[in-house]
Amino acid sequence: MAIFKKKNLNGKKPSHHFRLVKKSDLEKRKNEKITKKVDKDVENNEKKEKEIRRLAATGKDISNKKINDLIDSAKQSHVQDIIVELFNGLMVYAAISESASDLHIEPWEEEAMIRIRVDGILYDRFRVNKTIYLRLISLLKILTKMRTDEHRAPQDGRFEFQTEGGGVDVRASVIPTSNGEKAVLRFLSGKSHKLTLKQLGFLGDDLRKVSKAIHKNWGMILATGPTGSGKTTTIYAILEEINKREVNITTIEDPVEFEIEGVNQSQVDRKAKMDFATGLRSLLRQDPDIIMVGEIRDEETAKIAVNAAMTGHKLLSTLHTNNAATTVLRLIDMGTESYLVASTLICAIAQRLVRKLCPDCKVKRTLTRTKAKRILKLEYVKLLFGNKEKIKVAVAGGCFDCGNTGYKGRLGVYEVLDNTPEIQELILKRVNSTKLQEAAIKLGMTTMAEDGIKKVASGDTTLEEFVRVMQE
Ligand SMILES: [Zn+2]
Repeated sequence: MAIFKKKNLNGKKPSHHFRLVKKSDLEKRKNEKITKKVDKDVENNEKKEKEIRRLAATGKDISNKKINDLIDSAKQSHVQDIIVELFNGLMVYAAISESASDLHIEPWEEEAMIRIRVDGILYDRFRVNKTIYLRLISLLKILTKMRTDEHRAPQDGRFEFQTEGGGVDVRASVIPTSNGEKAVLRFLSGKSHKLTLKQLGFLGDDLRKVSKAIHKNWGMILATGPTGSGKTTTIYAILEEINKREVNITTIEDPVEFEIEGVNQSQVDRKAKMDFATGLRSLLRQDPDIIMVGEIRDEETAKIAVNAAMTGHKLLSTLHTNNAATTVLRLIDMGTESYLVASTLICAIAQRLVRKLCPDCKVKRTLTRTKAKRILKLEYVKLLFGNKEKIKVAVAGGCFDCGNTGYKGRLGVYEVLDNTPEIQELILKRVNSTKLQEAAIKLGMTTMAEDGIKKVASGDTTLEEFVRVMQE
């Protein structure tokens, strides 16, 4: 009996009901039909997404030649599968095979260029025709849930793909240009941040100073440098080192670049009106021991950050300044009282990134003082040569492993300003950054240039790299 009842309730109505449909029922059915179609479209898109993920998961390594073959096939056939395969191939090729940090799809007048950024340098890789370009962009939009019918406004989104080595998070943005929409995809792989301070390139005294600083109970540790100098990576390495169950670490970032287990990470959200200042204020209510603020770039954030450090928190952040001493002045310029800076700062780490020589193919060469003088500032020549007339330095070779560039990975060049009582006194006196820098050097600070020269002398990087980042 119960079974019959259920069947009736489920709508297996007697047939005469169909003959007596009301107008409103017709409307209802029409709506259902539209919804079904939309649902079908969504489902198809989801299938495409799944397909992309499945394909990406199979790729471990993809060669340049394979991508060119896929581009050739895409030229000949308009089957969607080929574009999906090409898109996947590009993801694996860039993020895995080439360890690129970004992939750019750049429209030109008649065709488009696909470029990748490896170790900070952008390389042209594949030319595609406009049809393939448009189909890649629309696939990217579907995948990141951007509006496919919007071509005039900037949009952003994200997606993830799986590889044998784990998931890769991709943050994509599309901006309109005169030749069409340009897409930039940034790969945020959860793996690459797991480097210790030593692996990042902190040596000797700098390593000791930073290790000591991060174990202090409260105060500020700041990493500074221009965009792309690796300061966030340094902060992440510090967080990894102090991340223990018994402490509460909370972050506000823009964006969250890597996820760290056990750390409460939140992200700036302009639409929800959550910037660094409001985010920081609300996370202070969460009883954190250690706070990480992605960047201090305005007065309000500076004020809250310094107050947080003052009230017993350990605060980590980054700033845009050229050297360690300027950091102090920058905070004062942003309206922080000098006595607060003097009492809360533990240390300021200034840094740059150089490309690291590939260990498999680097070559030793003799360099004479005369030749060095032509490319290096005199103070650097003195640092590198001492009294010698010639020295051995390493130069880039080229092998399969480094994609014939001679470089693999990057290395930090640092200077660490320790806020000793002598430095505190100078901060209170509000001396200028040149004086502060000089005093720090007298007190034993190794400058970024000295650290960089050490890394040239040890054969970890080249003179060209040093010149590129230090003399620009
Ligand atoms: Zn090599």
